[in-house]
Amino acid sequence: MNETLTTAQREELKALLLAARRDLQTQMQQNRENLAPPAADQDGTAQGNVGREVDQALTNIDTADLARIDHALEALEDGSYGLCAECGCNIPFERLKIEPQTQHCVACKSRWEQSKGHARVPS
Ligand SMILES: [Zn+2]
Repeated sequence: MNETLTTAQREELKALLLAARRDLQTQMQQNRENLAPPAADQDGTAQGNVGREVDQALTNIDTADLARIDHALEALEDGSYGLCAECGCNIPFERLKIEPQTQHCVACKSRWEQSKGHARVPS
């Protein structure tokens, strides 16, 4: 149990997670529809239509995101929410508020990203 979180903060994070899940599901639904030949925009504006060819990749990412959100919601129920899966520290509320589905503190996440070698090498 992350003891630095108050009940009100947990409620707030739960609301964020539920909203994020709803958004993601809407987005996935739209992505699926977009895989069909693109229809004209309702009002003729062309914003947000860049990169349609990466929709499939985005859909895969969304699925992983959705799994993380579900995992976070479960953790909220069983009381393990807000603890770093790596070092077990309390993840600060400020970080959870930005990324409520995260399972790692900043230190562990950046270490993990570095070891994976996915971080962009500064030129
Ligand atoms: Zn950690």
